[in-house]
Amino acid sequence: MMQYFEDDSEAWFRHVIENHFEEARKRAFSLIEEARLDENGCRVTDTEKPRKVRFLDRQLEAYRFIYCVLNREIASRDRVVRHRCHNRLCVNPDHLEIGSQADNKRDDWEHWAYGVDWDYL
Ligand SMILES: [Zn+2]
Repeated sequence: MMQYFEDDSEAWFRHVIENHFEEARKRAFSLIEEARLDENGCRVTDTEKPRKVRFLDRQLEAYRFIYCVLNREIASRDRVVRHRCHNRLCVNPDHLEIGSQADNKRDDWEHWAYGVDWDYL
């Protein structure tokens, strides 16, 4: 089947997975190891924004890189990697999943609506 809407990040991920998989996998594991394990089981990076990784001339969010490489899945503009733990600094692959942009927005809303931490009120 022809794909008309493949953007270049999809092509890039496909190239990485098909041709540089071992190297990418090692890189993903070292990023996870460098991150600090917190009390929620999150692997958080000591950065203010989601940490970036540079690989094969491209810079992207480390969590996106890690999820796509370890699951051999290709993220695109419409299929985004989401944090089930709601911590955008987390790179724990067990806390990541792929979903649509719409899922992502709904998550944020639900977290905002129901995810209130009553202890801090
Ligand atoms: Zn997490």
